[in-house]
Amino acid sequence: MTEILVLVEHVDGAVKKVTLELLTLARTLGSPSAVWAGPGYSPDAQARLAEYGAEKIYVADAGELADHVVAPKAELLAQLISAAAPAGVLVAATAEGKEVAGRLAIKTDSGVITDAVGLGEGFVAEQSIFGGGVNVKSRVRKGTPIVAVRPNSTAPQPVAGAGAEERVEVALSDVAKAAHVVERVKQEKGARPELTEASIVVSGGRGVGSAENFAVIEKLADSLGAAVGASRAATDAGWYPHQFQVGQTGKTVSPQLYIAAGISGAIQHRAGMQTAKTIIAINKDPEAPIFELADFGVVGDLHQVVPQLTEEVEKR
Ligand code: FAD
Repeated sequence: MTEILVLVEHVDGAVKKVTLELLTLARTLGSPSAVWAGPGYSPDAQARLAEYGAEKIYVADAGELADHVVAPKAELLAQLISAAAPAGVLVAATAEGKEVAGRLAIKTDSGVITDAVGLGEGFVAEQSIFGGGVNVKSRVRKGTPIVAVRPNSTAPQPVAGAGAEERVEVALSDVAKAAHVVERVKQEKGARPELTEASIVVSGGRGVGSAENFAVIEKLADSLGAAVGASRAATDAGWYPHQFQVGQTGKTVSPQLYIAAGISGAIQHRAGMQTAKTIIAINKDPEAPIFELADFGVVGDLHQVVPQLTEEVEKR
C-alpha cells in the first residue's frame, strides 16, 4: 500500500489532535507513517499514533533537532522522501507546518498546497484561497505532493495501526543549523482549548465595547468548552490579546461551530474563519456582512443575547 508521511505536531511529548486528524485523512489514501521530530518521544506517544492508524513511526529525536528551529524538520522529511518514496506528505496548516511545507517543497522540487480543508482520491485537495474567498480543488503535478491541512478539517477516528518504530538519523546541513533556539518560554496554559484546535470558537469584535465586556464572551465560551477569539478591531483596541486574533493577519480556525458576536464580517476576518462548519452571528445591525456567511443569525444587542445564550447552555 502506498506510504503517506504525516509530520507529528507535539507539545511536551503529547501528540496534538491535528496529527490524529492527519492520520485519519492519510488512511483514506494509503498507509500512514508518522514522522516524529524532536524530543519527547515515548511509549505513550507511540501508542497514541498507532491507535489512530500509524503503520510506521519514524523517530528522529536526537538532541540536535531540538536545538534548531523549523529547517531540520524539512531536512528530515526530504531525507525520508528520498529513502521511502512516499505517495505524499501531510503536515498541519499551522504557522510551523506551513513553513516546513514550503521549505520541503523547495528542497525536493515538489508542489505544495496549503490551507487544504479536504483531501481525496489522487491527492486532490480542497483548498481555501484568496483569503478564504474561493474554494478550489487542486492537485500537485510535480514531485511528491506536500499538503498542509487545516486543523479540524476531519474528525479523528481511531483504527489501530502497527505503529512499528524506525529510528532515523538526520545529517543536518549548515542551512538547518543557521537558526538556533536560545530560549524556550512556556506559555501559561489556560483551561480553554487551543484556539486553532478547538471544536467551538466564540469570538468577540468591536461590538463587545471594552476589555471588561469580554467577560461576556468568555462566559459563553466556558459554558460550551470553547476557545475565545477576537477580531482585529478588538485586539488592536487592547481589549483582548493579539494571540487570539482570528483572520488574515491572525490565526486561521476551522471549528465545528464559530460564534461571531459584535463582528461585522470584514473580508480579512472571514479569511480566518469561513471554513467553520457552522457559523452563528450575533449583531445588532441586520445589514452586517457577517449575516451573508452565517448559517444562523441573531439580530440584537450581544450584551443581552450572549448572557441569555450562556444561561440556556448552562441549564443543559
Ligand atoms: P467592526 O467592523 O467595527 O464591526 C463591529 C460590529 O459590531 C458591527 O457590525 C456592529 O453592528 C456590531 N455591534 C456593535 N455593537 C453591538 C452590540 N452591542 N451587539 C451586537 N453587535 C454590535 N480583521 C480581523 O478581524 N482579523 C484580521 O486578521 C485582520 N487582518 C487585517 C489585515 C489587513 C491588511 C487589513 C487592512 C485589515 C485587517 N483586519 C483584520 C481588519 C478588518 O478589515 C476589520 O477592520 C475588522 O475585522 C473589523 O472588526 P470588527 O468586525 O470587530 O469591527
